[in-house]
Amino acid sequence: VSAAGGEGSALFASVAVPIPVRRTFTYRVGPEASRHLAVGARVRVPLGPRRVVGTVVEFPAGAPGADVEVRDIEAVLAGEPPVEPQVLDLTRVAADYYLCSWGEAIEAAIPPAPRQAAARRLVRRAAGARASSIPERATARRRAFLALPEDGSAVPVGRLGAALGAAVADLVRLGLAERVEAKEPHGEPSPRAVLPAEPRLVPTPGQSAALARILPAVSADEYAPFLLFGATGSGKTEVYLRAAEETLARGRGVLYLVPEIGLTPLLVSRLARRFPQALAVLHSGLAPVERRRAWDGVRRGDTRLVVGTRSAVFAPIPDPGLIVVDEEQDGSYKQEDVPRYSGRDLAVVRAREARAVLLLGSATPSLESFRNAREGRYALLRLGGRVEDRPMPVVRIVDMRGEYRDVRGVRPLSRELTGALRDCVAGGNQALVLRNRRGWASALHCLACGVRVSCSRCSVAMTWHRSAGRLRCHYCDLERAVPARCPSCGEERLTAIGEGTERIEQDLREALPGARIARMDRDTVRRRGAHEAILRRFDERRIDVLVGTQMIAKGHDFPGVTLVGVLSADQALGLPDFRAAERTFQLLTQVAGRAGRGGSPGTVVIQAFDPGHPVLRSAATQDYEAFYERELGYRRALRYPPFTAVVEVVVEHRDLAKAAAWSAVLADAIAREGEGKLILSGPGPAPIERLKGKYRMQILVRSAGRRRLVESVGRALEASEGKVPRRAVRVDVDPVSLL
Ligand code: ADP
Ligand code: ZN
Repeated sequence: VSAAGGEGSALFASVAVPIPVRRTFTYRVGPEASRHLAVGARVRVPLGPRRVVGTVVEFPAGAPGADVEVRDIEAVLAGEPPVEPQVLDLTRVAADYYLCSWGEAIEAAIPPAPRQAAARRLVRRAAGARASSIPERATARRRAFLALPEDGSAVPVGRLGAALGAAVADLVRLGLAERVEAKEPHGEPSPRAVLPAEPRLVPTPGQSAALARILPAVSADEYAPFLLFGATGSGKTEVYLRAAEETLARGRGVLYLVPEIGLTPLLVSRLARRFPQALAVLHSGLAPVERRRAWDGVRRGDTRLVVGTRSAVFAPIPDPGLIVVDEEQDGSYKQEDVPRYSGRDLAVVRAREARAVLLLGSATPSLESFRNAREGRYALLRLGGRVEDRPMPVVRIVDMRGEYRDVRGVRPLSRELTGALRDCVAGGNQALVLRNRRGWASALHCLACGVRVSCSRCSVAMTWHRSAGRLRCHYCDLERAVPARCPSCGEERLTAIGEGTERIEQDLREALPGARIARMDRDTVRRRGAHEAILRRFDERRIDVLVGTQMIAKGHDFPGVTLVGVLSADQALGLPDFRAAERTFQLLTQVAGRAGRGGSPGTVVIQAFDPGHPVLRSAATQDYEAFYERELGYRRALRYPPFTAVVEVVVEHRDLAKAAAWSAVLADAIAREGEGKLILSGPGPAPIERLKGKYRMQILVRSAGRRRLVESVGRALEASEGKVPRRAVRVDVDPVSLL
């Protein structure tokens, strides 16, 4: 729809702006604007005393009521392409479902405008223009005009500085200067290195069976959702790639979502090799200019295969025919800030709207997706075990209670794991050691008064980072010096509790003299490229043992790894979150799958204090379905997802009494709107009661009826406007973490 439909058409436009108010605003379309204006156009509009950039989402048929003051659209942003209709629709679904404003959802869907854009705008004197025609008192205009080269050559507007830049706009309006289109900033994208072609693989029977279902669906151009369920190394990626080939051959686009791009350099090079022309990589780690350029290529249809992280679900692929969501269970598909959307769930919506094939893949599907498959909403495709019958690893569980009974001065590494590591390294193989906690120690406790050294802004213990010589809060990054005495009682009896990766690295060095040991966690990958560097060194076998957090569990295929050790495997099971068991199972299965991917069989040593725990047992036998059945029973009994949908509402404020009062108002409103059909827990203190200086009250709302749930909470938020400040409320639909 264009505003230029004819004389006198579309005098008003509805504009979605990125503020947390869930409505659009109406503006008048000036005659100048109407020529360029279409749905999706990015416009600058006045909003109260401010100016904001928003998006035209509609041209309302009638005029707004006479009592409403309507302001003008100030400008149509020529540098920003309009939002694609398909993407605009998706952002609307996201806004409705995740209870944010449409404008906020749109902002998440488009790459930030590169800053350089302003500097690239060029301006020059208009032919025949004279300084003498500018009145003396218009000093800024005069100075701006005189700053432009006399010979009429163009200069970047940015070079004139902010004050004169504004005056340039006046000069252009008065016909004394004119804007010039700048050339594309960097011309052609750099040609890709020519990579050797991959050898053609003969599909395994499992792959053949899966493709026999998927490929006809690709040809049918209909929505067809599949859950591809197969162990790590069972050949899922190969199935995605064949489906992608087929889709591209049919002239449609492919969207390939991965949890974290930094973890998948191998995948990207595999894709680049297979699809040298078509590939675009989109993620928020790209510099704005690069991201914009990749985005533009996608929009124009130059690159029809997009691989990216969750925000790539909004990629402007003209006609996606296949959407892949690899590791669909991964928590990183959920955005933790507004809009709190799930890239996986929006991928499902987008596939349906686009009549595309949807491939969700996992070795450990989320309970939600596996149940969808069981109930027939997704077609379940099993790939079974590993390609070429490479044996699954042998898993042993070490009872750490026994270790404490038998060994004096217990070390975090059990005797069994230490022995296995020595054999592994002596045999020229590689090992991974998972400890999902960084730092030297999780807490400093005072043995005199029992207090632990806590963050002054959060209700959590501070982590001791010994090499940095600091205590650090992992929730707000606050740091302090390591105290010599207990800050509470003054005794010199502080002791470290709970060893982290830094400490384990040290223990490994002592236990394995001569071995090459490296650590990978957020502390060691802070520098750009550090992550890739560690992985490369490991891949090139310049590291024997890699210790790290869950980072080491994801997405790599290292044929030299024959041993995986897991420390404190059951620790996370005690967290107050209904997904604690699911996450533990996924992590253990994932990291165990890293052992023995090459020719040699692998061994996994899991250390735990409760070795008989069913979650550990089913992870040890790699038995997803045993885990699923048991966990599903709990979820059913306790009415948690996938039997219900959950909305988490947290009210935060520096003043606990305010947070408590507001949360009570909200809970009442939610109960009223839900008409007794919602399950409400709380308000009560959130598991982390205080964060960054704010007290947090949590309300959990559940219902088997997803739509009713979301709409009731939405209405309750509206109803409590004026009573509860919106800034203090955080709403998370389908939260992945309740901490
Ligand atoms: P997944 O994605 O399930 O972890 P991949 O597709 O990465 O599995 O496959 C695991 C390994 O098996 C890779 O090294 C891949 O090259 C190899 N592979 C996949 N399919 C075949 C096949 N049909 N024949 C031989 N090797 C294969
Ligand atoms: Zn803190």
